[in-house]
Amino acid sequence: MQDKRIKLIYFSMGGSEVKQLSLGWKKIIGLSSLSFLFLLLFVFLILQIFTDFFHNWQVSRLSKSNSQLEELLTEMGQKINKIETKVKYLEKEDDDLRVFVDLPVIDSDTRELGIGGHSEDTYANYTSIEDDAINQAIKIQRMIENMEQRVSLASESRNDIMKKYNEDLKQLKCTPSIRPILGGRITASYGLRLDPFVDKYRTHEGLDISAPRGTDIHATADGRVVEVQSKYEPNKDFGKYIVIDHGYGYKTRYAHLHKILVTRGQKVKRYDVIGKVGDTGRSTGPHLHYEVIVNNKKKDPGKYIID
Ligand SMILES: [Zn+2]
Repeated sequence: MQDKRIKLIYFSMGGSEVKQLSLGWKKIIGLSSLSFLFLLLFVFLILQIFTDFFHNWQVSRLSKSNSQLEELLTEMGQKINKIETKVKYLEKEDDDLRVFVDLPVIDSDTRELGIGGHSEDTYANYTSIEDDAINQAIKIQRMIENMEQRVSLASESRNDIMKKYNEDLKQLKCTPSIRPILGGRITASYGLRLDPFVDKYRTHEGLDISAPRGTDIHATADGRVVEVQSKYEPNKDFGKYIVIDHGYGYKTRYAHLHKILVTRGQKVKRYDVIGKVGDTGRSTGPHLHYEVIVNNKKKDPGKYIID
C-alpha cells in the first residue's frame, strides 16, 4: 500500500519558524473523531447549563406568578364577601317592603336555592392547579353563582312589590274614604231609627248629612257613574240620585239631589263635584242620603270616612 501521509505545515509557538508534521490517515481520522466527540460534549454541556438556567428562571417566574394568583384569589374572596353583605342588606330591605305591601316574605331556603351550579368535577381538568388555589377558585365561583341567583330573585321580588304597591294604590283610590259633603251636619247614621214617615223603627241603610240646598256633593273615590236617576215622584224613594261603581266590589249612592252634574258612564275622580244637595223624593228637608255598598251589601258609610 502506498504511503499516504499528510503533511501538516504549521507555525511553531514562536511564530517565525515553519514546522512540518507528517501524519498517517488513521491517526488523522482518530484525532478528528476525538475532536468531534469533545466538541459534542462541549456543546451538550453548554446546552445543559442553559437548560438548567432557563428551567430555574421558569420555576421562579411560575412560583412568583402562582403566589400572585393566590393573592388575587384571596382579594377576590374578600370583595365577594363584601358584596354578599350588601346583598344580605338588599334582601332584608326586600322582606321589609314585602311586609309593607302585604306580600309573603321569601324564606331564606328559597333565597339560597340554586347555590352551587358547578360541581367540583367541572374543575377536574385543572390538574395543574394546586389544591388550595382550586378550592379557593371553586369557592369564589360558587359565591358568584349564588350572588347572581339571589340578586335576580331580589330583582323579581322588587317587580312584584311595585306591581302590588301600584295595585294597592289603585284600589285605595277606588275605596270610598272621604265625606261626600265638606261640612254639613250628620242628622242620621246607619242603623235602626224611627222613620218619620211611617212612625216605625226601620234600618237606615246610609248616612244623612243635612246642608243647604245647592251645596256641592263630591265623589268619595275614583270610579264610573253607573246609574243616574233624574225622574222622581215627590215624597217617594231616593228622588234624584247617582250610583258610582268604584270597582273592587265598591259602589256609592248619593240621593235626594237637587241637581245632577254627571252622566251615565262618566268616569269620575275622588273629590269631583257630581251633584248638588236637594230634598227630592222622600225627604223632610235638604240633605244628602249617602250609601256605601260593598259586594251588593249596604255598609255603614261612617266606617268609610277617614278624614
Ligand atoms: Zn237617609
